[in-house]
Parts: sequence; structure tokens; C-alpha cells
Amino acid sequence: MNHMPTALARDPKDFQFDLPRTPPPAPLAEKIHPRAWAAAGDVASLRGGPPEETIRLVVIHATAGATTDGAVSVMEAGRASFHWVVPGKDEAAHGAHVWATCPERLAAWHVRRSCAHPDICNGATNLNRASLGIEIVNRQDGEDPFSDWQIGAAAAIVRYAWAKYPKLVHVTSHARLDRDRRTDPGANFPWTEFMARVRG
Ligand SMILES: [Zn+2]
Repeated sequence: MNHMPTALARDPKDFQFDLPRTPPPAPLAEKIHPRAWAAAGDVASLRGGPPEETIRLVVIHATAGATTDGAVSVMEAGRASFHWVVPGKDEAAHGAHVWATCPERLAAWHVRRSCAHPDICNGATNLNRASLGIEIVNRQDGEDPFSDWQIGAAAAIVRYAWAKYPKLVHVTSHARLDRDRRTDPGANFPWTEFMARVRG
């Protein structure tokens, strides 16, 4: 299925697009976040297969907070995990690099196990095993804007993953997968522009 949201797609619960299978090579400006990396082993699972065979989906989140540290502390508390954090506008890493927070070979805990959508992986559950999770630092209060660099950085992660994982096809929001509980990345996130930057 080829999802092409219109310019009117303002509801994060409609955020999804699929990737044509012609990936260009795409290096990523990332640095391992030492605290997150140390925590990841206790807050992520095995995928049940090699990532090249199992990764089919990227899920876009927003932190509903102001800092990378705040997001990483969620990992340290053992509550959730994700593969990258795109730093916030006031952080030193903003404009320079994203943080790698969990090895890609592991299934991070960023989508509730029961969540599914008929347009994604044929309605399968346990989507953490099939996905990569990107957290973007944003207060998600309806006011805090995403920066142009953040949109580009999130798009660069997807392009990097698209080139690396041959079965990756879906890009969607957490809100689309967990419609009753989540709204991230929020209506402020410029999904149509993001999609254009991913697809180049
Ligand atoms: Zn989320």
C-alpha cells in the first residue's frame, strides 16, 4: 500500500508513508549516547531474527519533554527505549549529530505490544521486533516548534535505515499505532515536509 498523505494531513493519527525500494546510500551523523547505551541491554529485547530480515518499520515519536537527558532517564528507569534521539533546539548536539541510544539489532520498547494498524506489517502486533524508534525532543505542547534541523535529522535517520535494511517499507507515527493513548509526534510535526525530505 502506498500512503501519500495530503497537505491537509494534520492529524498525527494519519501520519504514515511507505518507501519505494530504491535506497541511496546515506551516512548518518550520530554519536553513541553512553548512558543510554549502558541502559539499553536491560530495556530492549531480541528481535527474533537478524535486523536485515526483521526491520520493516520506523516509528516517529516526540519526547513531550525539553531534553535528551529527560528521554534517556526514561531508559535508565527501565520504562521504555528507542534507537535514536534527535536533540532539542537548546542542546549542544543540535545542529551537529543525533544520539544513538540503543543498538539497532535489538528491539527497543517504544510501541505497546498489542498495538497494530491494518496498513502496517499486515496488521501484526509485537511491532517493536519489526521496528526502529526515533524520539525527537519536543515539548509537544502545541506551541514548541520542531526546528528545520530536527526534521532534516529525523529524515536522515530514515534514509540511513532505508539504505541499510532491505525490508524496511513503513514510516509512521506513534499516534497511528496507539490511537487511544498517544498523539506523538503531535500536530506540530510537519509530516508532509518530513516525507518529502526522506524521499529526497
Ligand atoms: Zn511515542
